[in-house]
Amino acid sequence: MIGVDIGGSKLAAGLVDDRLRIIKRLQRSMRGQDTAALLDTVAGAVAELVSTAPREVAAVGFGIPSLIDRRSAASLMAVNLPLKDVRFGALMSERLGLPVFVDNDGNLAALAEHRAGAGVGSDHMVLIGLGSGISSGLILGGELYRGAIGAGAELGHMVIDLNGPPCQGNCPNHGCFESLASGTALAREARAAAAAAPDTALGRALRDGRELDGPLVTELAYDGDRAARGVIELIGVRVGVAIANIVNIFNPQLVVVGGGVMGAGEMLLEPARAELARRALPPLCKLVRVEAAAFAHEAGMVGAAVLALDGLAAREVRL
Ligand SMILES: [Zn+2]
Repeated sequence: MIGVDIGGSKLAAGLVDDRLRIIKRLQRSMRGQDTAALLDTVAGAVAELVSTAPREVAAVGFGIPSLIDRRSAASLMAVNLPLKDVRFGALMSERLGLPVFVDNDGNLAALAEHRAGAGVGSDHMVLIGLGSGISSGLILGGELYRGAIGAGAELGHMVIDLNGPPCQGNCPNHGCFESLASGTALAREARAAAAAAPDTALGRALRDGRELDGPLVTELAYDGDRAARGVIELIGVRVGVAIANIVNIFNPQLVVVGGGVMGAGEMLLEPARAELARRALPPLCKLVRVEAAAFAHEAGMVGAAVLALDGLAAREVRL
């Protein structure tokens, strides 16, 4: 199988065996590309993996941060990519000459964690991926829940602040979870905290012209800088607010938190759990665990391979 995880600015593709071990990986930047260039980059990356595979590749799974219409494998719209009304599955299948399966990146990360990661044995599980945006996926009753046409579980666009900041890209809303707790939001809060506390390491980093992104803020927080720690805690509290909503609605056993921002680990999860305990209905918040994802950056890729494996198996059953 080949699993392809298409992110907001880059793709990660991997050759994955039937036991979900990644045999070979490659990455490509897609920054600033229009639809045609993006499709070329994706098809080129897969073709390169196919050409170096030791055995014939049976199928390709794609995870895309967009609303997917499962009936046609089309991308209806993406908040952060030029993929509006693109017949992604059909185009890729034509270009690659292979069976192609397409799903939302958050759904696939949930599938990977449920099948082989932190969620093994938890049939009521929610995944949240904190990256440049926020992806998410729901496993309910042991199955991925996708909604009527497959576009469901966009928990990143749940409003957690009625008067919050505008959301990103093509989302018309404001005060979304994504606009308040993604890596992008973390960087914005870090700039504000640095300006307000120029005598801290975070403040000095701003003065030195460094980019206050997730990895730098996390590093400074681990070093004990109070301003950087404050930013991580603020994001953690907001994650806890969102999880309280999720727990009240779905009563999951487990909430798995992944994505690039989770480099902060327990520094972020501890305030999240405390906020969850303050806000969720008491019996429910005692029954749920909030844990870090097992697959750091590779959940989408592994989940895409699971999607392809399951998709082929379902076809064989139908035949
Ligand atoms: Zn939004």
